[in-house]
Amino acid sequence: METIIDGSVLEGFRAALRGDAYAPGEEGYEEARAAWNLNAHQSPALVVAAEGASDVIAAVRLAREEGLGVGVMATGHGVAAPADGGVLINTSRMRGVRVDPETRTARVEAGAKWADLVREATTHGLAGLQGSTSGVGIVGYTMGGGFGWLGRKYGFAADSLKEADVVTADGELIKASAYENPDIFWGLKGGGGNLGIVTSLEFALYPITHVFGGNLFYPMEKAGEVLELYSRWSEDLPEEVTSAVAFLNIPPMPDIPEPLRGRSVITVRFCYTGEDLHERGEELLAPWRELGEPIMDTFGVMPYEMMDMISMDPVDPLGAYGHSETLRDLSPETCEILIKLAGAGSDSPLIMLEMRQLGGAMSRPPADLNPMGRTDARYILNGIGATFSPEMAQAVQAYLAYVAEAVKPYTSGAQYVNFMDLDGATPERVKAAYSPEDWERLVELKDRYDPHNMFRFNRNIPPSAA
Ligand SMILES: Cc1cc2nc3c(=O)[nH]c(=O)nc-3n(C[C@H](O)[C@H](O)[C@H](O)COP(=O)(O)OP(=O)(O)OC[C@H]3O[C@@H](n4cnc5c(N)ncnc54)[C@H](O)[C@@H]3O)c2cc1C
Repeated sequence: METIIDGSVLEGFRAALRGDAYAPGEEGYEEARAAWNLNAHQSPALVVAAEGASDVIAAVRLAREEGLGVGVMATGHGVAAPADGGVLINTSRMRGVRVDPETRTARVEAGAKWADLVREATTHGLAGLQGSTSGVGIVGYTMGGGFGWLGRKYGFAADSLKEADVVTADGELIKASAYENPDIFWGLKGGGGNLGIVTSLEFALYPITHVFGGNLFYPMEKAGEVLELYSRWSEDLPEEVTSAVAFLNIPPMPDIPEPLRGRSVITVRFCYTGEDLHERGEELLAPWRELGEPIMDTFGVMPYEMMDMISMDPVDPLGAYGHSETLRDLSPETCEILIKLAGAGSDSPLIMLEMRQLGGAMSRPPADLNPMGRTDARYILNGIGATFSPEMAQAVQAYLAYVAEAVKPYTSGAQYVNFMDLDGATPERVKAAYSPEDWERLVELKDRYDPHNMFRFNRNIPPSAA
């Protein structure tokens, strides 16, 4: 049954709001609830398009009075549980970004994307730890750990967090840092936004202006050789290098360069950040030069703001399903399965099956919450299928389930908070993203700060009473 908020309650709520609130059927509702992932359908009782922290406070207090759950969305790249019947806070109007070049930190509002920060940071020769695409929201990404092409060198984005403004389930705005509310602060660094709604974050930036990065695309028929070399080559790479290998079914779109358009390929990609970018980058490529000519080589020194070119993730909203597992290694047996799943003749409907290398700063015993549960996983597998019809959605979901089953013997058992969306964010998988000790501590915090699980439309950590 549809949840309806009383008209007079809504009227009073709206009168005090800086932003807007939309109930089902009202103009603006559809747009405000729409997620980047077109497969995420949410039917909240109210969407609050917040303009600032006061709107977030008002929305949480309203939900509390009405006994409703609260969801939050900046971009809709990571909807794990639809905010059906709840209050959905849309933060996409809160995009303020401020960089302090002296302290090398950034302060961003809840709805800021990495793309909003790039220019502000690069002006001072600084960079944040964005992921594969700058279209993702900074807060959502950081709440789930967050790692990208600088991950092995600088760790998870959550490790760079310095301070957050948070609206708690009581509807109070508090500051969380190592010095104030340190327990909530700990839980923010990978707790998937379970303890409150963040209205702004402050985090460290790093002196990076350029990196060496790109892709070597090979024909799918070479997948065996590529995986064999990749598993050896990636074994002892320095932390300055973050690498991946990916099977791609590239769509036949006109803006894709001709040699790749509509083709199935395997690509080796990496990012090097350190001294002597060009020289060292070419040295890293040397073993690959012996494998013969790739279809395309996009490696070179690139400005930090071009880093999206390494992963080439889709920018516009897209219906997608994904599945992720962490792998213990890329043994010959694992590689054989991967080729069977996504190589030539596999008929894989996935646009990508990627194995990103973990380790380095991400695998050091964490002083803080680890959003991957364990530190012995060496690679993280991520399969993604784009879907343009219900039939395609079914086929992709079935294939992802087949992938999950097939790789099971080679997985470490750990999950990663940020790579769980939609039906992939099951209670068991969310729990597997944390070590037993971290999980226990998170549940204790949830019991203390959100005992009624108001913040439940997420990769949820339920309180013990639930
Ligand atoms: C194309 C693509 C590429 C990606 N690449 C990477 C990558 O390289 N590395 C990586 O780590 N992840 C990556 N992700 C995963 C992404 O980081 C997560 O899905 C993240 O949660 C998205 O955050 P968002 O705000 O953009 O999405 P949203 O769907 O708006 O938010 C997702 C969740 O974040 C939490 N959240 C958002 N805002 C707040 C807030 N203000 N307060 C509290 N909680 C909040 C909520 O739980 C919310 O449900 C990628 C996802 C996609 C679709």
